[in-house]
Amino acid sequence: MFRPIVCSLVLLVVICAGIDAPALEPIPDQLVVLTFDDSVASHHAVVRPILKRYGFGATFFITEGFSFRMNKQDYMTWEQIKELHEDGFEIGNHTRDHMSVTTRTLGQLREQVKAINARCAEHGIPKPVSFGYPGNAITPEAIPILKDLGIRLARRGGAPEHPYEWGRGFAYEPGADHPLLIPSAGDARPDWTLDDFKRAVSEARAGRIAVLQFHGVPDREHPWVHTRPERFEEFMGYLHTNSFKVIALRDLARYVDPEQVPENPLAIVEKREGNLAGALEHAQKAATLNPTEPRNFTTIGEIYEAQSEFSKAVEAYSTALTLEPNEAIESKLDDLRARAAFAAMPQEYRSIETSPTVTRATSRLTSRGGSTSPGMGGRVQATRSRSSVGS
Ligand SMILES: [Zn+2]
Repeated sequence: MFRPIVCSLVLLVVICAGIDAPALEPIPDQLVVLTFDDSVASHHAVVRPILKRYGFGATFFITEGFSFRMNKQDYMTWEQIKELHEDGFEIGNHTRDHMSVTTRTLGQLREQVKAINARCAEHGIPKPVSFGYPGNAITPEAIPILKDLGIRLARRGGAPEHPYEWGRGFAYEPGADHPLLIPSAGDARPDWTLDDFKRAVSEARAGRIAVLQFHGVPDREHPWVHTRPERFEEFMGYLHTNSFKVIALRDLARYVDPEQVPENPLAIVEKREGNLAGALEHAQKAATLNPTEPRNFTTIGEIYEAQSEFSKAVEAYSTALTLEPNEAIESKLDDLRARAAFAAMPQEYRSIETSPTVTRATSRLTSRGGSTSPGMGGRVQATRSRSSVGS
């Protein structure tokens, strides 16, 4: 007798739950999130018109740090920030003083976030629901605080998996990545070429989202993360021509449930670090195959260098062959090609790097290479510019 009533009740509960739960859309391929940090004046002057022309969405992470209050040549005014909001762009929180979020500073996180929220309220800008970790420093202990402050999505950099200097990263994997620790797929650097940009956005597939991090376009105050306006135009043109869907971070709510969180927010980070360690091991093995120049790689920058050497050697022999067909050159070339193919560790490295399946190897790498030493950054950069010239 009771059964039909119970069934109806169950059905009612199910229906109500169905109405309450937001219907999520499947994550399309080529979904890109654009984010711009540090309230730089060029965000309003240069970035805004370009994004508007293409109808792209974006999130601007606002801080009153650096010389924001005094230096209106290099930083936006709150009126300009308000204008970005009125244009339909998202205004996100990047703390009042651009404070690194570490165990030591956790006690100040609330007031830092609330100060920007208050400035937004003064200017009729809705309370930010997105957060950008300043300087890309992270600690999982910040998660409950940010959640309590109404933050639904928070973006970090490509570290700790990758050293900060390269600006490399991973696409966001909803379910595996915590929504309050979303990695940047790329963090634009002054020497970024269209190929660097393409590599970052090509990760936007199979349920993964490429969240990109930019600073000023140009950025006179932070030259190490500067992007040239012509380059930026090229990047945005590429997204447009290739029909990428370009949105703000908050718009991910259409595709991702921020309440769905992994049990261990750092598990995915450790898995990726393991993949990178595997790639390094592979490169080391490949290097021993070159009897003319046995060597050990200690940084991935050296792998790039080796790849560049291989490809330059192949190119030189190819040229020699066209000038003077010669069996000895031909067999040398075949040998080189075979070795280059095996030692095509950068390609291999790339696939491991982006594999969704991944110890502390990167931190070991980082400490060995000295990620904070300007020397390493310079060396890697020099290596990379050489390879881009070669390709
Ligand atoms: Zn910043």
